[in-house]
Amino acid sequence: MPRTGWMCDTDSGMTASTHPLMDRIDWQKAGDETLALLSRLLKQRTINAPDGNPNETAAASMIADLFRAEGMEPEVLESAPGRGNVLCRLPGDGSGGEPILLSGHLDVVPVELDQWKRDPFAGEVHDGWMWGRGAVDMKHMVAMEVMTMILLHRLGVPLKRDLIFAGVADEEAGCEQGSLWLARNHPEKIRGEYVISEIGGFTLHMAGKHFYPVQVAEKGICWLTITARGTPGHGSLPNRDNPIAAIARAAELLATKRLPHHVTPVVERFVRTLSQHQKVPNSLVLKGLLSKPLCGHILDNVFPDPSLASTFDAVLHNTANPTILRSGVKINQVPGEASVQVDGRLLPGQTGADLIEEIKRLIGPGYTYTIDKEMPASVTEVADPIAGMIDTVLTRHDTKAVPIRNLLPGFTDAKAYTELGMKCWGFSPLKLPPGSNFAAMFHGHNERVPVDGVRWGLAVLMDLISGLVAK
Ligand SMILES: [Zn+2]
Repeated sequence: MPRTGWMCDTDSGMTASTHPLMDRIDWQKAGDETLALLSRLLKQRTINAPDGNPNETAAASMIADLFRAEGMEPEVLESAPGRGNVLCRLPGDGSGGEPILLSGHLDVVPVELDQWKRDPFAGEVHDGWMWGRGAVDMKHMVAMEVMTMILLHRLGVPLKRDLIFAGVADEEAGCEQGSLWLARNHPEKIRGEYVISEIGGFTLHMAGKHFYPVQVAEKGICWLTITARGTPGHGSLPNRDNPIAAIARAAELLATKRLPHHVTPVVERFVRTLSQHQKVPNSLVLKGLLSKPLCGHILDNVFPDPSLASTFDAVLHNTANPTILRSGVKINQVPGEASVQVDGRLLPGQTGADLIEEIKRLIGPGYTYTIDKEMPASVTEVADPIAGMIDTVLTRHDTKAVPIRNLLPGFTDAKAYTELGMKCWGFSPLKLPPGSNFAAMFHGHNERVPVDGVRWGLAVLMDLISGLVAK
């Protein structure tokens, strides 16, 4: 096969470190199979909503059948009825180290049907894009991972370490039925040195450069309840000690003011790399985000795009969003207590206790705090050898690639794998053309992926994985 089948942008970037098996693959056929699988996955309505069962088992069983047809030995493990997780392992001799896990979640977030220009569950291609809920997040990666497993199996190359695939349930609702359940109940089936999953590897076009964020860290969670107590009384009499007023003041401050500025090493490097590739004044604006006195002003007044500002805001501060208010049971009775639940997110190095101190300084005394759930931020050592391999693979397939490491404000299955001591890399390669907005499509309307971008992603993933596992 001609190398141009998988070399996208370049005719000169080939290096000796590409594994020879890359030349044995019919990339047209492999890409067709990947896209066909992606289409079938998109037709599975694995919608993770509070009032329904996503039935990931249907998608998990479909993948298991594909593996079985190839002579591989998958298994489907249900954490609850319909909540299937599919696992498959290609054994290696261990000479190259502990296993590598390819992980992808099978569930998707709900859709607002009337906002879509195409059917989100038809898995159809229109004008070079495959449309569907989950196309970006993250069924394209699941399809590429499955294909990577199948290609390695078909080629029959000996492996120097195990390669495991995990298609998991429930990521969109907190991972309890999926990766966390696997990590707590079947750790031996998924444990390895590295996990490769979301969120990163997509093209971010800025100033003529192709940035590729690679997720190496994600914020932690501190969900807490803040309670105010006051003097209960009859609703007909004025009451200056009404706890509803106290909790409303706290909620207003939390929703409108920032917590203190913190620059973590991952974010500092991310901002400096972006800045180096920008011209003045954008380069200075970006660098200003690292300055305590300037950051808030820049986010509020200089950034043209509020959603971009809020992303930078989230990676430079602990955040505490009020999400649920509770108080009162009767219209004519002033309650004795009011509370607000707060979705707190922690930067690397910060604890729930640190967050509460910051909140106390913002809202003042007179409140009590209960932490309902806390999970620390996860951070992968960026000096790891796999970092260089990811950079090399990216630049081999896109000569304009500028890889950057990023911190995700939200959380992913990486939380579960971190519990097993695994090193998590958010790298689900997807080449996007200029003008496409990854962030807007992620959980957004009209989610879709370019079919050429998926073909490219398959080659990039296969290049990385073959370098890691094939002898
Ligand atoms: Zn996702």
